[in-house]
Amino acid sequence: MEVKVFESVTRINDTIANQINKLLTENKTCGFNFISSPGSGKTTIIEKLISNLKSKYRIGVIEGDLATTRDAERVKKYDVPVVQINTGKGCHLDANLIYQTLNEFNLKELDILFIENVGNLICPTSYWLGEHFTIGIMSTPEGDDKPEKYPLILRKAHLLILNKVDLIPYINFNKENFYNSVKKINPQLQIIEMSAIKDHRNFQLLVDWIKEKTDKTIT
Ligand code: MG
Ligand code: ZN
Repeated sequence: MEVKVFESVTRINDTIANQINKLLTENKTCGFNFISSPGSGKTTIIEKLISNLKSKYRIGVIEGDLATTRDAERVKKYDVPVVQINTGKGCHLDANLIYQTLNEFNLKELDILFIENVGNLICPTSYWLGEHFTIGIMSTPEGDDKPEKYPLILRKAHLLILNKVDLIPYINFNKENFYNSVKKINPQLQIIEMSAIKDHRNFQLLVDWIKEKTDKTIT
């Protein structure tokens, strides 16, 4: 019974997400949804992407959070349109919330929409937000066993970022275990390793990936 209720909730969600996807596509806006646990680096990565892509693309951001506007404040510094969604007790964003929020943007004037989901690796994976691409982030302090414990994100994501690789010498993280378990779940999944706050070379791989996907979607 409960499974059926959940299925119908996600079916309604997908119908709205499909409308969002059409709207974004018609307006030539490429949507990206960032999903990770709290503290794995979503906001830092989004901030850095904005500063790398801002000169070439017009970017908008939706920040999902339970209660605070801290992430939105951080992104506002880059002078791009940002809308905060506070979900209260809700542990994920859903398509209905995004659909209502889209009114606050002029989509015709956006090339890229970044959505930062609520920090949670579980239920955000069940709610498509109409994005073209889903990006999963895991960071090394979370442990190399996380791919096996949270396989849903690995099946859904178009790209996986392994963040905070600079900490590996100080913590108990086995990169080979991490890669092997990702491969078991989704052999196709591309992984980009980085230390978002320090590293420029690998971050450029992410910038190039976003450019490639955006150009393909909006032209
Ligand atoms: Mg954040
Ligand atoms: Zn949730």
